[in-house]
Amino acid sequence: MEFTNMPSGGPALTSTPRAGRATSRSGSHLEVHWRPLAAGELDHERLWLLVTLAASALAAVSWQIGLRPPPCFFHQVTGLPCPGCGSTRAVVQLAQGHIAAAFIFNPLTTLAAFALGTYCLYATVVLASGSPRLRLTAQSGLPAGLLRTTALAALVANWWWVIAHSM
Ligand SMILES: [Zn+2]
Repeated sequence: MEFTNMPSGGPALTSTPRAGRATSRSGSHLEVHWRPLAAGELDHERLWLLVTLAASALAAVSWQIGLRPPPCFFHQVTGLPCPGCGSTRAVVQLAQGHIAAAFIFNPLTTLAAFALGTYCLYATVVLASGSPRLRLTAQSGLPAGLLRTTALAALVANWWWVIAHSM
């Protein structure tokens, strides 16, 4: 079987003067670049900023007209909160500026909301100023196992927190 569309080598990744790298113990690393958007390249900043703004507006309008998310199926069946339980209450608290209360309802959702807010702020600034974009490039294989373990540990710790604070 021949793969006629496969390039003979990997993509040539060039470092820019403003590139930095984060090296892990296993030798793999992430290249951090600030570079202009290439012709025809997907404008992630514009896309995700618009998606976030549209979703936030939809959620706000839904909330205002009294629509609420359905009750948690996992909680109804098991009597225990699921890892995502408290997310709606956390977002409502955040929208009212109550950060500590949001964190108590669901820490991971609160952190994710902050990460999303930070990304939207960055996207607004680079779109408004026409600045170079931040791009991360995985070199010689990201430590996928480490990332999976970290994500799983964060989920488990968050779940434990949600259960502990629902008692
Ligand atoms: Zn739930």
